[in-house]
Amino acid sequence: MVEHSGQFQSRVVAVTGGAQGLGRAIVAALAAQGASLAVLDRNGDGAQTAAAETVTGGATAIGVTCDVTDMNAVEAAVAEVTARFGRVDALVNNAGILPRRPLAEETVETWEETLRVNLRGPFLCTQKFGAVMKAQGGGAIVNIASIGGTVPTVDAGAYCASKAGVLALTRQTALEWGEAGIRANAVSPGYMQTAMTEDRYAIPGLKELRASVVPLGRVAGPEDVAGAVVFLLSDESSYINGHEVVVDGGLTLTTTRRVSPPT
Ligand code: NDP
Repeated sequence: MVEHSGQFQSRVVAVTGGAQGLGRAIVAALAAQGASLAVLDRNGDGAQTAAAETVTGGATAIGVTCDVTDMNAVEAAVAEVTARFGRVDALVNNAGILPRRPLAEETVETWEETLRVNLRGPFLCTQKFGAVMKAQGGGAIVNIASIGGTVPTVDAGAYCASKAGVLALTRQTALEWGEAGIRANAVSPGYMQTAMTEDRYAIPGLKELRASVVPLGRVAGPEDVAGAVVFLLSDESSYINGHEVVVDGGLTLTTTRRVSPPT
């Protein structure tokens, strides 16, 4: 992990979906840089545990129970974080769900719930936490999208549509709030092993098959992705606004492999 000269030591970062998986790895990476963390999750016990277990050195963290689809809960979370820390400098919209069904069999309920969590959630958190950042004169937002926001993925139509929306929300936030000193960028992971995908990796041979098509030769863990989030929140990315960093080991470059002659 790159050292950031203590720049995070005076910063407060809210991470949604921080109880486990990628969110927890992001919390740990930011805590290692000295940031103060608000770990938001609908799993309140998990958020408290993540806050307690990931903090090192002089960092501080609190766990906050928050369903990001619930505007009242998001407003209450903003109030709790500002009451505890007095400010909010950055937001990571990471909470997400991945229901799987072919489009022909998709239900309206699941379609809408996916969009509620994956797109309405980031919108609400951006608006409410962003208002605090605006009043303070600036901040940074990272939205966790997915390569599925650009490349269709089998049985994940609602998810891919929601992540395309997250990429659009990122660009829109960057455009509208740049002059307020707020940068917004997206990180799009590719194949990553977490609780979200453990059913997939329980299928014998799938992890090896996926690793074989990734140029870097392996499926990512959450720690492989967290560093890009830290970079996009840091002063080292101070002129990057409205962009997507794809963290997929090169997976989305591989289409031509299918038509390459055997060697
Ligand atoms: P996990 O399922 O491991 O963790 C997601 C966390 O978000 C869980 O703690 C979950 O709680 C929480 N959460 C879900 N819905 C809400 C909600 N409405 N309000 C608050 N918290 C909520 O997922 P990952 O760590 O794998 O995923 C993190 C992000 O990365 C997601 O946005 C995902 O789409 C994205 N991503 C993941 C990939 C992968 O392969 N894993 C690939 C590309 C992108 P609960 O346990 O109760 O559901």
